[in-house]
Amino acid sequence: MIDTHAHIYLEEFDEDRDEVILRAKEKGIEKIVLPNIDSSTLQRTLQLADQYQGFCHAAIGLHPESVKENFDEELSLIESHLEKRKFVAIGEIGIDLYWDKTFESQQIDAFKRQIEWAVELKLPIIIHVRNSFGQVMQVLKSLRNRHLTGVFHSFTGNLEEANEIIRLGGFKIGINGILTFKNSHLRETVSQINLENIILETDAPYLTPVPYRGKRNESAFLYYTCEKLAEVYGTTMKEVDLITSQNARDLFKFPS
Ligand SMILES: [Zn+2]
Repeated sequence: MIDTHAHIYLEEFDEDRDEVILRAKEKGIEKIVLPNIDSSTLQRTLQLADQYQGFCHAAIGLHPESVKENFDEELSLIESHLEKRKFVAIGEIGIDLYWDKTFESQQIDAFKRQIEWAVELKLPIIIHVRNSFGQVMQVLKSLRNRHLTGVFHSFTGNLEEANEIIRLGGFKIGINGILTFKNSHLRETVSQINLENIILETDAPYLTPVPYRGKRNESAFLYYTCEKLAEVYGTTMKEVDLITSQNARDLFKFPS
């Protein structure tokens, strides 16, 4: 399995990060993608990717919740790193209007500029969408390009939205522990779309799947999302792993 979204560089893992990675490997995780948040997390992200080269892979981007007055400086820092080293994706980027709409126009601006880099560098984008599906779609459609690919991370939308993503072409749907939550409508939506469109993620340390809901999430727990997905499709975990891992390899250009 490939954990396509984990923030295990955060301080929540400072006490036992090596064990977290060991447990992930033991549970059958072959790679972890680390989306950056902002300048405060960048060094930790790069350091972890360097330490676990070939297993942990860094993505770089400015998270929409970190888009504030200083977003120009934040973007310049990212731009300078894009010239210096290789990344597997631009992310996480997007629009978040859940808590705060103060910087909506700046969020859209930052999102667009980062998409332009992704197209230029032929990198996929990792998109964070929260109360902003329409705005995100509008931006993606306005910048449509055959090199624009990516993932709608932590998807929780309805079938109509899932189909809209699929119709874009080049985009995957990121499914995490929310799938295992008792009150989630996501199982019903997911059961109506093809597995070829899905990639797995944890979003660790957040969104821990059942039976560990409420505890800190880690990449090893991807197992439970994979298990639930197999149940939803009436297939084996092996089949879910095979297809979703290949989807992730295709998207992030990992060798097979
Ligand atoms: Zn995230």
